[in-house]
Amino acid sequence: MFSFKGCTTTGCTRIAVTGSDHCLKHAQSPDELRDAVIRSLEHHEIVGSVSMTHALIRDHNMSGSRMYASNMASNVYVDCDFSESFVQLSFFDFSKFIRCRFTDITLKYCVFAGSEFTSCDFSGSDILHCNFLGINAVDCSFDDSDLYFSNFTNASLSSVTFRDCNLTKSYFVGSERSEVNFKYSNYEEAVFTRT
Ligand SMILES: [Zn+2]
Repeated sequence: MFSFKGCTTTGCTRIAVTGSDHCLKHAQSPDELRDAVIRSLEHHEIVGSVSMTHALIRDHNMSGSRMYASNMASNVYVDCDFSESFVQLSFFDFSKFIRCRFTDITLKYCVFAGSEFTSCDFSGSDILHCNFLGINAVDCSFDDSDLYFSNFTNASLSSVTFRDCNLTKSYFVGSERSEVNFKYSNYEEAVFTRT
């Protein structure tokens, strides 16, 4: 399923962008490469096994997109809309998300570990078996979401709301929480301490 090629530039350890033998840094036309990947998401094509890392993705409406088994890690996403999308088995780790919308999204088996979220909205979503290990989230909402088996271990959460959520088997072990609101959620079904 995952068959990502490395950048062919000698000494580069990055993964090549889909459609190129190079990473964005070493590609001849990085903007065109990036835009082609984004365009396929914007046009609701079914995107699978795509890789693009270390890109700045600003002000794009990818609402309703469908993505499988893709590597979109280490990117910076600003003012992007992923609402009502279906994303499965994909990697967004060590990325930065600023003012992004994930409302009414379905996320399954996705990895956001080590990412930063500022003013992002995940409300009304199904976020199942997702990995948010060590994330840093400020001013974000997960309200009205199903977070079954999602993992926030060692996360730093500040002004983050989880109101009216299903938290069954969700993990918050070792997390730092300030102004975090679990109102109307079944937080007794979540795991907060190692046993
Ligand atoms: Zn490279």
